[in-house]
Amino acid sequence: MTDCIFCRIAAGDIPAVKVFEDDEIVAFRDIRPQAPQHIQVIPKRHVETIQDLTLIDNALIGKMVLTANQIAREQGIANSGYRLVFNCRSDGGQEVYHIHLHLLGGRQMIWPPG
Ligand code: 5GP
Ligand code: ZN
Repeated sequence: MTDCIFCRIAAGDIPAVKVFEDDEIVAFRDIRPQAPQHIQVIPKRHVETIQDLTLIDNALIGKMVLTANQIAREQGIANSGYRLVFNCRSDGGQEVYHIHLHLLGGRQMIWPPG
């Protein structure tokens, strides 16, 4: 989708600091980081919300989590720990309607989240 900011990042039309990319997934640094490490893991395919996923997306979602785990190891936060977050729709705090897995780390997270 040309009017989707994350599709445009995936396509390389909008610059981003990418830390991982393959044929299905791209990961890049958040423009307004909420932690020393704040990375977005997204599918290249446009999917608006996690409610739009179906069983055939099982492998894709699993790969997003495994990619986040791999990036956490590469960024040196695997042992100290990190948080993975999907925000869904309005009450979930979703602003960009192209699914993305937040990888947050490098500081102590608090619970409950705001
Ligand atoms: P949401 O609130 O939808 O779960 O999270 C969207 C995230 O995307 C936010 O953390 C926001 O800072 C990030 N973001 C929005 N626009 C851009 C952009 O153009 N570039 C990058 N790198 N991150 C963005
Ligand atoms: Zn998109």
